[in-house]
Amino acid sequence: MTSSHPTKRPTDAAHLDERRTEFPTDLLNLPWIDVHNHAHTLSWEDRERYALSGCRSMVMVASGYHWTPYKPVRADDIRYLWDDAVNRRAAIERNHFFEAKLGLGVHTGVRIENPDELLDAMADYCALDEVVAIGETGVTPSQHVSSWDVDHQQAVVQAQMELADDHDLPVILHTPNQSGDSGRSYRPGMGIPGYEKNTTLGQEPVLEGDNPALEAVKLDIEAMRDAGLDDRQVVASHADENNTEYLMSETDCYLSYTIGHSWLIGVTAADVADAIDEYGPERIMVDTDCANVLRTDPFALKRAIFELYRYGIDEDAIRKVVLENPREVFGLAE
Ligand SMILES: [Zn+2]
Repeated sequence: MTSSHPTKRPTDAAHLDERRTEFPTDLLNLPWIDVHNHAHTLSWEDRERYALSGCRSMVMVASGYHWTPYKPVRADDIRYLWDDAVNRRAAIERNHFFEAKLGLGVHTGVRIENPDELLDAMADYCALDEVVAIGETGVTPSQHVSSWDVDHQQAVVQAQMELADDHDLPVILHTPNQSGDSGRSYRPGMGIPGYEKNTTLGQEPVLEGDNPALEAVKLDIEAMRDAGLDDRQVVASHADENNTEYLMSETDCYLSYTIGHSWLIGVTAADVADAIDEYGPERIMVDTDCANVLRTDPFALKRAIFELYRYGIDEDAIRKVVLENPREVFGLAE
């Protein structure tokens, strides 16, 4: 107990370790990049939250059936999603000051009736300055509304990887997660609270076996090799316990851990810290995947920065995964 404390009786202040505790004050203002979100579908206030918490750049991904009103989905519906994002991107930058770029892709979560029409149009979009990535895309074990056989899915993924190679763009891979099991299901017709998806329209799986989520990733990697796309141009988003070891040991791809909806897929900053401990920060990123159809948190990446530090990750490694790796791969924040 030090005599310098005028408190009536001893408080915690009298019991503090004499060693000076260093806090990572640089992390308070460390800029960060979110390489996978759907921020153009969020509210203005949510995008402001990105800015308030230090987001420097983001890749807004315009692919995926969630935002098309029609079922089944046609090429034109996806084309509309691309055009909507192209249309609004500059206004988003002007409003919030962070750099907002685009990822455009053909996702395989639902079968698209005439995908070739999209693939044909895609080359011209790839030439746009604001398009910094292709995706998200990747073989999906089961579809919504209308199933898509695995060979056709893989062909659509590979065609996009060939385009990425032609245009020197990275691909954001959607790797499927094994969702956590609470041990109890909801009433029929309730769906998953927090996820605006009509689960009654889920189709029978097209990929079977013990581990379809990992099999899907292996098919993506096969497509990457057949397309001649460099591993370092592929960012496997939604990295998790199920696919980390395979991706780290069998490929040179980047792994991006999605931490904006941990309640759904179970991935948290602790998983990112474990991966950094085991493999180093060189091939790791973190993304939020924030979207209006999901309960997601625009502050998730900023929170993860502090969590990584608390879990023992050093500041240089944190900077590498939230800023430097994305900057280099996507050409952002230069
Ligand atoms: Zn996404």
